[in-house]
Amino acid sequence: MPWVLKTVAVPCCCAEPVSVVSALSMSLKAFLSRRVVMPDGVRPAAVLVENERILDVVPPDQLPADIFVKDFGEAAVLPGLVDSHVHINDPGRTDWEGFPTATRAAAAGGYTLLVDMPLNCLPATTTVAALEAKRAAANGQCLVDWMPWGGVVSDNQGHIESLAAAGVPGFKCFLVHPGIDGFTMVTERQLRAALPHVARTGLPLLVHAELPGPVDTATEQLSGANWSKYATYLLSRPDEAEISAIQLMLSLCREYRFRLHIVHLATHRALDILRGAKAEGLPVSAETCPHYLHFSSDQIPDGQTLFKCAPPIRTRENREQLWQGLREGVLDLVATDHSPCPPEMKRLSEQSFRTAWGGIASLSLALPVMWTEASARRYTLRDIARWMAEGPARLAGCASRKGRLAKGLDADFVVFEPEAEFIASAEHLHYRHRVSPYLGEALRGRVKATYLRGNCIFADGQFPGAPGGGEFRQ
Ligand SMILES: [Zn+2]
Repeated sequence: MPWVLKTVAVPCCCAEPVSVVSALSMSLKAFLSRRVVMPDGVRPAAVLVENERILDVVPPDQLPADIFVKDFGEAAVLPGLVDSHVHINDPGRTDWEGFPTATRAAAAGGYTLLVDMPLNCLPATTTVAALEAKRAAANGQCLVDWMPWGGVVSDNQGHIESLAAAGVPGFKCFLVHPGIDGFTMVTERQLRAALPHVARTGLPLLVHAELPGPVDTATEQLSGANWSKYATYLLSRPDEAEISAIQLMLSLCREYRFRLHIVHLATHRALDILRGAKAEGLPVSAETCPHYLHFSSDQIPDGQTLFKCAPPIRTRENREQLWQGLREGVLDLVATDHSPCPPEMKRLSEQSFRTAWGGIASLSLALPVMWTEASARRYTLRDIARWMAEGPARLAGCASRKGRLAKGLDADFVVFEPEAEFIASAEHLHYRHRVSPYLGEALRGRVKATYLRGNCIFADGQFPGAPGGGEFRQ
């Protein structure tokens, strides 16, 4: 899509309009579309960009004279997506993923900011020294911007406030074993030691909300079961594990008054509890993920361990109730929980849901997956922007610069063709290992281009330019 210089009539002796290029017009650019997704609706507009920021968003007939214009026509322009739940695994496990590949996959998927989880990398981000190691690993490697969550583990209570001072936007903890070494779960007693520190920072605590008790009890009863069956895995991670964990966290939230965020909610049976907590005025928010909103347990073939994640993908009825939770605002946002691993860790030949790594990688496909499901339920691109850009930016404390197309914010946006259709194949995945349960799915909507701070970082399958992403700090 070429740049077009908007020609203007300038007063002079000749009657013909004359093209004028001034120094100003070289830095000021306009991006035009019939469908610009604004916080208050979708409409024809021009996004004016200068020095990496949005100078203004104006009606097309109010374009300034003498300006370079890129016209996307009927393709929609949404704010660059923000993913508040990504496992980049860098440093330490770059054979699983890494900053270059994760941010490349993000750019292809319309994401312009990733917030990295503190585990799966080595060292885990539980001290300032580990945070600095992560910063060194990311330096010069990123196609999109990123931020680091800090970890709350069994023994790092003394590091929480120094991590906040060093620039993390919040913390993550596990109430159940995370399935990986290097990052410990926390018990209620350890949480009580950590929460006064978390509350003092004013930053959110993101919680993997499953308690080990119900998981262990269910798993013991399945000792003789066939673990190649998805139904066995589903029984081993019952709804009660999520519900009891959320109830524990809400009671601690009531006591310590910290900002609580429930990650990857998978059971609809916790929605009423969360609705009640919000009505009570507790500072709580929650997310769900594209795989819980797209797949359902009845579709998962036995032995197909690519679908393994925790908490698990539940029933079709459960999926519809999660959509209802989004509609009502009980669920605040959608994050990918992009969690890749080397293909052999999925134990595809063994077909065991017991031993396979749990995690679904989806950065490049999350927007088409979400739009496929959302448009079928009559949601709009405005809803998508709210769930996948604005909501995550608010959680990560960067909403004044990211997540919306509005004056003064970073000029991050995605050009999206909502009517395009395609079958997901390996060529659409740009992360390190191109395996995915989404392969073969018929999806709606195509990411045509992605812009980070006014610069094109992805267009029609290509990645122009050098890595220009960096850590976003307030
Ligand atoms: Zn995760």
